[in-house]
Amino acid sequence: PPTPLRRPIRDLPDELISQIAAGEVVERPASVVRELVDNALDAGATQITVRLLAGGVRLISVEDDGLGILREELPIAFRRHATSKIGSLQDLESVATMGFRGEALAAINAIADCAILSRAHGLSEAFLLDGRTGELRPVARSPGTTVEVKELFYSTPARRKFLKTDATELAHCIESVRRHALARPDVGFAIWHEGRLVEQWRKCGALTGGLLFDATPEALDALDQRLYDVLGADFVANSVRVNWSGSKAAQMARLDAAPSMRVWGRAGIPDAARSRADQQFAYVNGRFVRDKVITHAARSAYEDVLHGNRQPVYALYLAMDPTRVDVNVHPTKIEVRFRDSREVHQALRHAVEDTLAVPRAQAAADAAE
Ligand code: ADP
Ligand code: MG
Repeated sequence: PPTPLRRPIRDLPDELISQIAAGEVVERPASVVRELVDNALDAGATQITVRLLAGGVRLISVEDDGLGILREELPIAFRRHATSKIGSLQDLESVATMGFRGEALAAINAIADCAILSRAHGLSEAFLLDGRTGELRPVARSPGTTVEVKELFYSTPARRKFLKTDATELAHCIESVRRHALARPDVGFAIWHEGRLVEQWRKCGALTGGLLFDATPEALDALDQRLYDVLGADFVANSVRVNWSGSKAAQMARLDAAPSMRVWGRAGIPDAARSRADQQFAYVNGRFVRDKVITHAARSAYEDVLHGNRQPVYALYLAMDPTRVDVNVHPTKIEVRFRDSREVHQALRHAVEDTLAVPRAQAAADAAE
């Protein structure tokens, strides 16, 4: 084999560092949409409007009515590892916001033409920051923030070639917003493509994020409405409400040291199962996740009633002590690591199994009559 050439060790230029980091966070337009909607939710938005051109490749604009960003902080928002969400390791361990790594805006700005327009709540002036030139100028807008991302991957043509058709990229963008919409019935969402309204999910009830951590009856009703709007009448008609509390179960089993966990949402009846796993939504403390433990637990709850490759449908929400789940596993935060995955598996499996057992017991009683 050829002897490797000795080359000097050098620091990478800043721009290249950001472009490398961007590769981890931004795979396609939908990844940008996810990051920007995360930011809008973290800012307490109640209405989020996404506007796209050419499946998001030419333009992604996300407008919110959240807290806004102060003029003097606008330039900091684009800096790498700059965040308002955590300040210490302790914060990181119990993080309750969607973002915390301070990477997204810097990464997106490195591979696209970006601008932030923002008016901080309580202030009368709005400003626009051009991400490329750093120029800051006054503009007019209502309180809140708009982030505009144009010509994604313009500086990295190799990446741009990996993109699919506009229609496919648009579908991924819509799916990304759909995942957020299912987590937050208390927030209104609208998606426009090429000037046409393609999806709109209206705010359901005035919950102000309450659903993230508690499943009150009002919150569950609002969730049903949102599931109906987003996944359709069939999903709601062919599923049963899950509302399970680990602390209650632990009390009944006289285990007093068991950590409390809550699971709610809806689980499809066995007949609603599909050939594809395209209606399986799982959330941990309000964050959409794809997790082997959760998928396996849900699947095993259907063990006796589903055969072959039939895929159950569900939208399940787990609330647990944030210090018992690590969300800092991957830059996209779609993967999580549980401190005790057995405890999560059991909770989820019980929650779904117990729920399914109710209609099953009812059906058995009906049949016996
Ligand atoms: P992170 O979300 O991990 O903090 P980002 O790069 O996504 O990192 O954003 C950097 C910072 O910019 C955020 O911490 C926040 O203070 C501010 N910011 C970004 N988007 C918004 C928004 N839509 N509304 C208010 N502040 C925002
Ligand atoms: Mg963010």
